[in-house]
Amino acid sequence: MFKRKTALITGSTSGIGLGIAEYLAKAGVRIVLNGMGDADQIEATRARIAATYGVEVLFQGANMHRPDAIEAMFQTVADTFGGVDILVNNAGIQHVAPTDEFPVDKWDAIIAINLTASFHTICHALAGMKQKQWGRIIQIASAHALIASPYKSAYVADKHGIAGLTKTVALEVAEQGVTVNAICPGYAWTPLEEKQVLETAKARGISEDEVIQKVLLAALPTKKFVTIEQVAAFAGFLASDAASSITGAVLPADGGWTAH
Ligand code: NAD
Repeated sequence: MFKRKTALITGSTSGIGLGIAEYLAKAGVRIVLNGMGDADQIEATRARIAATYGVEVLFQGANMHRPDAIEAMFQTVADTFGGVDILVNNAGIQHVAPTDEFPVDKWDAIIAINLTASFHTICHALAGMKQKQWGRIIQIASAHALIASPYKSAYVADKHGIAGLTKTVALEVAEQGVTVNAICPGYAWTPLEEKQVLETAKARGISEDEVIQKVLLAALPTKKFVTIEQVAAFAGFLASDAASSITGAVLPADGGWTAH
């Protein structure tokens, strides 16, 4: 099903993005990794995925804050693999602080990386997808695309924005074999989440353990973190032909959080 398909997963040097890259590589998809981190570690990850799954794996370190870097990345992928068939917009950052104390530079960075970058990647991906009359755009949003939590104004705003972008683009390309969907995970234990615990403890004036028990796990009716593997398998399904009628959907994978 995925023969000769290429997936670009933004922010795939760790956490959920890396999990999705591994899942798709295992299914035979050519992979473009993207993200920040130590160059040697990234090269080791790239080489490991290529060797383990027998697929071509390219790393492109475009900073999602920079539209020119995003454009250059798409040009390289077009030259190397002939374009992107499966685009996973996953790169994301977080900052936790009361709205009236929220640093303006953090607000700007979160909106640029978590929301505006998806607009740019979608614009670059769509021409090739329309030409092939096949494409999958999968946005890694969050339960915060559907509900809010205090002290996360920029993140909640950008994720709600992603939900709107998803629905709009889905309607525009529905007749051209391109689906656009958003996955909304609940809390998953990743480097992003780990950093957030400290900031949330500060913002709420409680200990880090209380954040894990009374804020994070308390939000999830299952009382379990969502796993990276679960989100990756969900993305893999949305990329498959079996999911071709699912489009414009903003889909929770949140242990029941948004059922409240
Ligand atoms: P993570 O910190 O492990 O991964 C984030 C990735 O984004 C990394 O590869 C990082 O290098 C990359 N990145 C950050 N800034 C970048 C930039 N300027 N340019 C390019 N790449 C950049 O975090 P994660 O938890 O795996 O988060 C991945 C996505 O999942 C995010 O969009 C996040 O909002 C979403 N999400 C996470 C959770 C959770 O609980 N962990 C829940 C819901 C949604």
